[in-house]
This record gives sequence, C-alpha cells and structure tokens, in this order.
Amino acid sequence: MKISDYKFAGKKAIVRVDFNVPLDENGKITDDTRIRGALPTLKYILDNGGALIIMSHMGKPKGKVNAKMSLSQIVDAVSAALGVPVMFAPDCAKAHEAATSLKAGEVLMLENLRFYPEEEGKPVGIDKEDPAYDEAKKEMKERQKTFAKTLASYADCYVMDAFGTAHRKHASTAVIADYFDQDNKMLGFLMEKEVAAVDAVLSDIKRPFVAVMGGSKVSSKIGIIENLLGKVDKLILCGGMTYTFSKAHGGEIGGSICENDKLDVALGVEELAKKNGVELVMAPDAVCGDSFSNDANRKVFPSDAIPAGWEGMDAGPEAQKRFADALRGAKTILWNGPAGVFEFDNFCEGSRAIGNAIAEATANGAFSLIGGGDSVACVNKFGLADKVSYISTGGGALLEAVEGKVLPGVAAIKG
Ligand code: AMP
Repeated sequence: MKISDYKFAGKKAIVRVDFNVPLDENGKITDDTRIRGALPTLKYILDNGGALIIMSHMGKPKGKVNAKMSLSQIVDAVSAALGVPVMFAPDCAKAHEAATSLKAGEVLMLENLRFYPEEEGKPVGIDKEDPAYDEAKKEMKERQKTFAKTLASYADCYVMDAFGTAHRKHASTAVIADYFDQDNKMLGFLMEKEVAAVDAVLSDIKRPFVAVMGGSKVSSKIGIIENLLGKVDKLILCGGMTYTFSKAHGGEIGGSICENDKLDVALGVEELAKKNGVELVMAPDAVCGDSFSNDANRKVFPSDAIPAGWEGMDAGPEAQKRFADALRGAKTILWNGPAGVFEFDNFCEGSRAIGNAIAEATANGAFSLIGGGDSVACVNKFGLADKVSYISTGGGALLEAVEGKVLPGVAAIKG
C-alpha cells in the first residue's frame, strides 16, 4: 500500500519513527533533524483524520529501563513540532488501554522500545560461545514475535518511517509487519524519499563518482568501502581510520587512533582500489594535538611521521587541498564520516574543507548525498545543509542501501 492512497480517517496508525536524537547532559535535544524528518508522515495521518501511535528507540539501553534514554524527555519537543498535545505511554508493551481510547487527531507516544530485549530480539546475558546460545536465541525470537504482535494490536495499520533503523530486523521495524495484511502496511514519506534518493544515485550514476568515507574505524566501514571500490572513480578516506593505513606501511603515528589488528585489512583496501582502477585519496599531513581535547596544543606533521606525544586529530592543510581537488568536477558524491574530531572547533577544518568542496561541486551540478549522524552534524555545523542535494537520516541504513542490500524494513512492507 502507498501511504498517499491509504484512507486514515477513523483509523489508528502505529508509526515506527527514528527519534533517536542526540541529547545533551540535561536531556535537551541538540539536533532535531530526525524529528523534522518524520513530520510529513505524522502530520499527513493527523490531517487525514487518523490517530497516531508513535514508537521509536533511543540509544542502546540493552533491554533494560534506563531513565537517561527515556523518550519522555522529547515528548514536549514532538508536541511542539506537531502542534498538538502528545500523550505518553510509559511502558510500550502495556499501552493497550491508552491506545484503545485514542480518538482521531490524538497522539500517543510509546516509551523506548529497546527497554525490552524483545525489540532487538537478541538474547541477553548469554555469550555467543555458550552451548545454550542457540536455544536462547530461538526462545528470544518467539518472544520477539509476541512483543511485535502486542504492538500491532494497538492499531489498524502500520507505517514504517524509521530509515535510520531500516537495516535492522527488529520487532518494530520488520516483524510487526507480519501482523498486518498488505492493505494495511506501508512505508512513510521519509522512507519513500530516502529509498528514492539512494535509487537516484545507484540507478544512474553520473561520473565522476567520488565517495568520502571518514570516521574513527576502518573495521566498521570495511563492507561499504569494499563495495564502493566497485562503484566509484575516487575514494577519499579520511579521519581516524587512516592512521591504520599509515601504520600498515610502517609509518610513525604517535598516539593516533589505530586498529592494530586491521593492518592487513587496510592493505587489502589499497590492493582492491588498485585492481579496480579507483584513485584512493588520503591525507598526506595531519593536524595533531598533544592531548585529546579542543584546547590541546596543535602542530602539523606528515601523516606517517607523527612523533610520540602527539595524535592525529584532523586533516592537515595539504590534505584539505587534495580532498578539495578530488571533489572538484565530481558529478555524484557520497559522504559518510568526518575527516577529524569535528566536535572540537580546533580540529574541524578538514571536515569543513570537505563540506565546502561538496557544496561547490553541488553548485556545479553534482548530486551529493550526505548520510550518517556525524556527517549530517558537520553539514549543519558549517551551515551547508541547503547547499547539498540530499541529507539522509540514516547512517548504517544508508550505507547498506548503497551497498545494494534490500533493507529488512523495506522488505517487510514490500514482501
Ligand atoms: P565513526 O563513529 O566511526 O563514524 O566515527 C565518527 C567519530 O570519529 C567522530 O566522533 C569523530 O570525532 C571521530 N574521529 C574522526 N577522526 C578522528 C581522529 N583522527 N582521532 C579520533 N577520533 C576521530
């Protein structure tokens, strides 16, 4: 079913959104991109006479109640964004009564789904190596079905609009769909838009296609890096992950972040790039700090000659030029992961240089797709949000979609 064809009048819709927004130490939202992203779907349902049951996760409470990750903290913000009062169900699995009494135009938000281990469906407190693990997993999968069925019982239809978690086969993102027939389950507008943005990039790649992958670890991005090496013309690797590459070549990296057990992985990436004729672009120099803080003393060193007592925290001036050169003339751009510790104002210039170069290429006709919480935060920090083509609310989900994988959250709706 397409959301724009569904008759919401008099119906209760349970909508999975991604309200996993960053909060400061006082529980205040620091970036509401994800809430704004869900508004078109939520408002559409209300405007068309439906009642809303909103469900989401927040953080990683690992199946236990954790006040710091309570969605009660964002009720007021969601209410302000929607322009209607939002009721709160403090236990997502015991909201039947509250859901039953909902009337058209009313909104109920459920507490963090991940306070229940059933949401993720992974057995807790048992090691994967334990001989009883498989049995525990089977049992948890059954409990997950029951949990999903409970959530489904609150509503007449199910709307999946949480792109950020669409790559997970969780109770609320996929399993729940089994309890609605084809005519009563659908993707929300955000999901439709996200899926279309990925399609726009992949179905008709305009070249040169330049991807920028940054962040702290090569291990968490190796799948997408290898995959991109089969698609892109140039790959800019930046951020903390690149010190693993320097080390693999025998470079001195001081106290820079490094995955010592992934040196072979780094060399493998270089080999694959060579084999595929992809130009790998990495930072020749690094802005280093003498401690991991914004106020650290700063000095620029070659990326493979960082002395002890210093750690690479941002791309150096020469690197910034190289990154900008590599992006100039690009016609398709994908950016995921910062070029340094961008959260510190004194170490964000490399990420800013990438953002500016992407904005310039976009002005010259490139389609630029930005995804992942940190890259989105960069684009917002540098005031470039309206100078790129598309900002995805997904990190892992976006990368898996770009890898060409069918997301479980999409498969659950489309079959
Ligand atoms: P990831 O979660 O792997 O995407 O990485 C994002 C994080 O990497 C951000 O919080 C950055 O601050 C961090 N990061 C980027 N470059 C470095 C670096 N050179 N040293 C330490 N952390 C870094």
